[in-house]
Amino acid sequence: MKTIPAVKQLGPVPAASAASAVIRVEEAHKYYELGETRVHALRGVSIEIQQGEFVAIMGASGSGKSTFMNILGCLDRLSSGGYFLEGINVSKHDKRALALIRNEKIGFVFQGFNLLARTTALENTELPTLYAKIDKTERQKRAADALTMVGLAERAQHFPSQMSGGQQQRVAIARALVNHPSILLADEPTGNLDSRTSVEIVEIFQNLNDRGLTIVLVTHEHDIAQFAKRVLVFRDGKIRKDDPVLSRPSASEVLKTLPTLED
Ligand code: ADP
Ligand code: MG
Repeated sequence: MKTIPAVKQLGPVPAASAASAVIRVEEAHKYYELGETRVHALRGVSIEIQQGEFVAIMGASGSGKSTFMNILGCLDRLSSGGYFLEGINVSKHDKRALALIRNEKIGFVFQGFNLLARTTALENTELPTLYAKIDKTERQKRAADALTMVGLAERAQHFPSQMSGGQQQRVAIARALVNHPSILLADEPTGNLDSRTSVEIVEIFQNLNDRGLTIVLVTHEHDIAQFAKRVLVFRDGKIRKDDPVLSRPSASEVLKTLPTLED
């Protein structure tokens, strides 16, 4: 995938301004206690991410990427430091408060899709809405809309076993979108997918980002990271690089140059 053509920049990176920072992390440290030993997974991470950004995170295995994503996604708490999500200091929240804020503001996509096996695409997508106070008809409409957004409207009644890996990941993205989150977090979402399917997933991310959704994506593939607008590199629990992507390819354009499975 080294021959990806440079296509026009899809949109300007929003100007930095504290007012529109969706994410602000200050001097974040995270320790894991493992019996006698203490693993220092984040060693002083500070960063701001603005509304409408599309950030890729790279770095070697064990460099703290997933730890950082779990903090951003309110799945875990910092040992010290601050995390402000849309200006709210969530580092002070307890587990219950974190769960509420997560359901309302965060969409999370994982490498392994994490769909319920005996449950249709529509029902999988609908799951996060069960906690929101909305009626059945509205829930199903939202789930159907989310499936349409990822191009799977016609697969609503399929079970995960009847879908390809790429389709399952698209259901997982629909599920992440169904509560209209402020941020979409994706931890190696293309790690189990072939290169064409990976670009198809990234195409969805670019389309969502063009519509204003803030996205943070972990990937170990340089070519995938280049579809974002900004790339962070983690090493030993710190951000070692933070660079804008200067000539960002359009995934839709790249897909025209890649063979399809049927070819
Ligand atoms: P990455 O996602 O970049 O591969 P991680 O954030 O998963 O890195 O891990 C960072 C460090 O924290 C590693 O040394 C890892 O072994 C350790 N770690 C991650 N999760 C846990 C955990 N639940 N308990 C103990 N150590 C952990
Ligand atoms: Mg990881």
